[in-house]
Amino acid sequence: MKQLFSQTDISERVRQLAGEIDQAYPKDAPLVAIGILKGSFIFMADLVRAMDRDVTLDFIALSSYGDATETTGVVRLLKDLDVDIKGKDVIIVEDIVDTGLTLEYLRHYLQQRDPKSVRIATLLDKVSRRQVEMTIDYVGFEIEDGFVVGYGIDYAQQYRNLPWIGIIE
Ligand code: IMP
Repeated sequence: MKQLFSQTDISERVRQLAGEIDQAYPKDAPLVAIGILKGSFIFMADLVRAMDRDVTLDFIALSSYGDATETTGVVRLLKDLDVDIKGKDVIIVEDIVDTGLTLEYLRHYLQQRDPKSVRIATLLDKVSRRQVEMTIDYVGFEIEDGFVVGYGIDYAQQYRNLPWIGIIE
């Protein structure tokens, strides 16, 4: 496995993203960060701790992959939200945007709950793989096609605890 981003690369970038998000929302307005399980859990933990404001956390679990490395295009909801997002600013926290199908599904799903706004933060973005057009508001790193693991991201449930991000060759 080849290292793509070191622990230092990641922590510096996550800190910058947290700063951008801090600036974008008024400090006294409720903000809900929704992490997509399981891949975003480490990014979420680091991102919200680098933010200088109150933020409510929740998680949602979606599945389209099983143990495969390609999306099936069919998204299933495995765990729903616990908090009410009506009238609140929402930021979806994702590990990787690939085809975009997962986020497209989630964005529509969340809109039905009547939030004030929905933005997306992703650590990694495989722009060239996109199948649906969408705006990603906060991107950690754009990457080429290839299968990456570490920092929460798995291959068949392995490598999530790797503190850096590598690419499987
Ligand atoms: P999309 O629906 O095609 O955008 O897929 C997004 C999801 O696929 C991400 O949340 C990841 O869980 C998974 N995924 C996409 N690329 C990779 C990868 O390179 N490694 C591990 N998981 C990936």
